[in-house]
Amino acid sequence: MSSDQSWKEKYFQELETAEHRTERWKAERNTLERMLVRTCLASEGQAPELDRLLARVRSDLRKNKVDVDSWKELQEQIDRQVALLDDVPAHNKNRPGFSAEVVPEPEPSARAEDETDSPDSAADAEDESQRLRIARRVGHLLGQLLTQVSLEPDAETKARNLQRALLSSDNWDELRDGLNQVADLIVAAVTRSQREFEGFLKRLDERLEVLQEHFSVQSSAQSGRQAAAEALDRNIREEIELVGRHIEASDDIQDLKQSVSRHLEFIGQAVGRFRVEETEREKMLSEQLLAVQEKVAVMEAHSEQMQGLVRKERERALTDLLTQLPNREAWQERLSFEFNRWKRYQYPLTVGVMDIDLFKRVNDSYGHKAGDRVLQLVAREIKNRLRNTDFAARFGGEEFVLLFPETRAEDALMVMDKLRSHISALPFHFGGNPVTITFSAGLTDFIPGDTEETVFDRADRALYSAKDAGRNCVRVSPTESQ
Ligand code: GH3
Ligand code: MG
Ligand code: MG
Repeated sequence: MSSDQSWKEKYFQELETAEHRTERWKAERNTLERMLVRTCLASEGQAPELDRLLARVRSDLRKNKVDVDSWKELQEQIDRQVALLDDVPAHNKNRPGFSAEVVPEPEPSARAEDETDSPDSAADAEDESQRLRIARRVGHLLGQLLTQVSLEPDAETKARNLQRALLSSDNWDELRDGLNQVADLIVAAVTRSQREFEGFLKRLDERLEVLQEHFSVQSSAQSGRQAAAEALDRNIREEIELVGRHIEASDDIQDLKQSVSRHLEFIGQAVGRFRVEETEREKMLSEQLLAVQEKVAVMEAHSEQMQGLVRKERERALTDLLTQLPNREAWQERLSFEFNRWKRYQYPLTVGVMDIDLFKRVNDSYGHKAGDRVLQLVAREIKNRLRNTDFAARFGGEEFVLLFPETRAEDALMVMDKLRSHISALPFHFGGNPVTITFSAGLTDFIPGDTEETVFDRADRALYSAKDAGRNCVRVSPTESQ
């Protein structure tokens, strides 16, 4: 039957959609987990017990042992520890050990104030400013998280308000509450994705059941038809045999005539019955077929809609909302892809990291909206000025990352330097004031023995040497091969 083929295809389509959905969910979960690990790292060093609990969070994540119920308990323990932190005099606490990657260096102005104060109040002030920095950092991470996961509308509004508070409030009580709520939000986001996925599997299961039902009706109708045909065959044989025996036993032609016509009538009735039953069976089957076709058409429409949804969700999961550039997740995928090609073919490959100079000043002087606008314009220039084969993504905050396949760092330097001088000459205006925006960047070639991490670290160090050299410049990292 040719429609068998199309049912099979539908099965496969459904399965493929389910696989896409699983992949997307895994990517979302990965991002959430990575952010959580970073948040834990950024919060370390406050108290030994808190460190132990945060280490457990990281270890559970590493071992893929996340159990929402036991994590609720863990979170309560963390809450208690965070509440206890406030009861301990600031100078008795361990000095927080921040990862350089996660938290920027203290502002020069904050240091200047520290030097003029007494040691105790200097420690208090430093503590205060470190807490604020953690809150700001978590605020930014939360912002990134919100661009990548979908929450219920209420939770989304709550999360946005929370992010605003984390980014702008100086009130530690409010910030501490906010930090606690971030963990709730992450758990809510993970369980929502899980729920959606479970719902999807349930719907898929229901559809497969409809198809299965149809197949079993088909096969029972098939065996009914076979049994009826066999019965008809048997009837006809028996009648013919009887006629044969009658012919042998009888000499009376009249009697024979009557017997043959009786048997023929009997055979005719059996064939007639068979036809009626067969017509009924056909009618029932074609009604059944029509009903299944209708169901399949509905399934098809739904499946297309879902595929579109999955496609859109995937794009959304890989795109930075503010700048519409690929996001960090997309970067990681592309970096792995190019890295594997480089390992195999060894053609030149350059990685770049760029960071807008003194961007905090733009936010501080003209507001966050102006800062966002700068990010959008810089992203647009990056998109317009790079070749199609090059790849740029927003790594986070005001940092962008670039990949230049088939290009040596020395050649990428020329491209980046042109972009740098172009952006520094753009006429930005905020509140009627002309503002110059510049960026610094670091570039490096892939060299033998490199991993995705070593090459990224080298580009990052080149970026910092560009910052040290006074900003608004691009530096190529020295490599052993140069
Ligand atoms: P440097 O030249 O050393 O890079 O100085 P900087 O001021 O650019 O660096 P710093 O890391 O101190 O500040 C980065 C600022 O970027 C702080 C943060 O408020 C801001 N930022 C991060 N993400 C966003 C965002 O999405 N929108 C806006 N408007 N600002 C952001
Ligand atoms: Mg930066
Ligand atoms: Mg910067």
